[in-house]
This record gives sequence, C-alpha cells and structure tokens, in this order.
Amino acid sequence: MSNYDRDKERRELLKSSGLCPKCGRIIYDKNYVTCEICRAKNAEENKDRYKNLSEHKKEEYKKNKRLKYEKLLKSGLCVICGKKPQYNGYVRCQSCYIKSKQKSEHWKAKVRKGFKELNLCIICGEATVDGKSYCSKHLKEKQDTLAETRKKINRKNHIWKQLDNETFKNGGGNNGL
Ligand SMILES: [Zn+2]
Ligand SMILES: [Zn+2]
Ligand SMILES: [Zn+2]
Repeated sequence: MSNYDRDKERRELLKSSGLCPKCGRIIYDKNYVTCEICRAKNAEENKDRYKNLSEHKKEEYKKNKRLKYEKLLKSGLCVICGKKPQYNGYVRCQSCYIKSKQKSEHWKAKVRKGFKELNLCIICGEATVDGKSYCSKHLKEKQDTLAETRKKINRKNHIWKQLDNETFKNGGGNNGL
C-alpha cells in the first residue's frame, strides 16, 4: 500500500467516525467536514495567500469572483453553490440561505452569550454600564431607537384615530356591507 493510499484510508476512517480528516479532532459543527481549528487555520492561510498576491493578481481575483457572481445571479442559480435555483428572491438557494442564516444566528448567539457571561456589551464587547447589557454608547443608541419607535407608534396611532373618525363619520365603519 502506498503512502498516499494509507493516508487516504486514514482520512476516510476519521471522516466516517465524524472526526476531522486532517487532525482527528471531533467536529462539533456537523455542517463541516473539518474541525473548527483546521477551518480557522485554513481561513488564515487563505487570507495570507491573498495578502501575498500582487496588486494585479488581487484585482484579477476580485474580478473573477465578481464575474462568477454576476453570471450565477443572472442565470438564476445560487451564488454560493451554483447548483440549485435561487430561493424566493434571494441570491442563494434555499439550503444555502438557511445555512447562512443559521450560521450567522448561531454565531451571533454565541458571541452574545460570551459577552453576557463576561458582563460586557452584547453588541461590541466593551465594558457595560452598571446593571445593563450594553456599553454607554450602545445603551444610548438603544434608548434612541426605542424613543424613535415609540414616536413612530404614536404617530401611527394618531393616523388610525383619524381614519377611525373618518369611517365613523361615513357611517360607522361597516362600509354599507
Ligand atoms: Zn482538524
Ligand atoms: Zn446554494
Ligand atoms: Zn457596545
């Protein structure tokens, strides 16, 4: 048996046992075929490789990526996997859409939980204002949006009230039915 075959067999064995074929660690996220550590390493390497490219190559890379994206977009196929049709007006297919949604929500929840446990702002991880889940900046932002929403709701109520009055004047709102 050649080294290559033995290596391949080992990888297959690890894979079928739910372990990372590269390093043998447990894969916690079953959406992936490698473990988190190998994935992070891989991403770093890709980033480095990209960083080391010449400006010209970088431009080319970006251009190719954009062209591929546009081609898929026009063809009505998912821009991520390029295999399944786009889902409901999204640029991704249903399964890629769900996957990306789950991933970002999972990640957000994880980060938030981590910040919360450390008593840090759940948005940016800065020190929190006493007893709150946000830093002073985000607490203010939160309060501002809350005030905005309240204002909008009040305005809406106002319009509703006006409309109600109109319908009332025109015969009690049953529109003659
Ligand atoms: Zn691994
Ligand atoms: Zn897809
Ligand atoms: Zn913050």
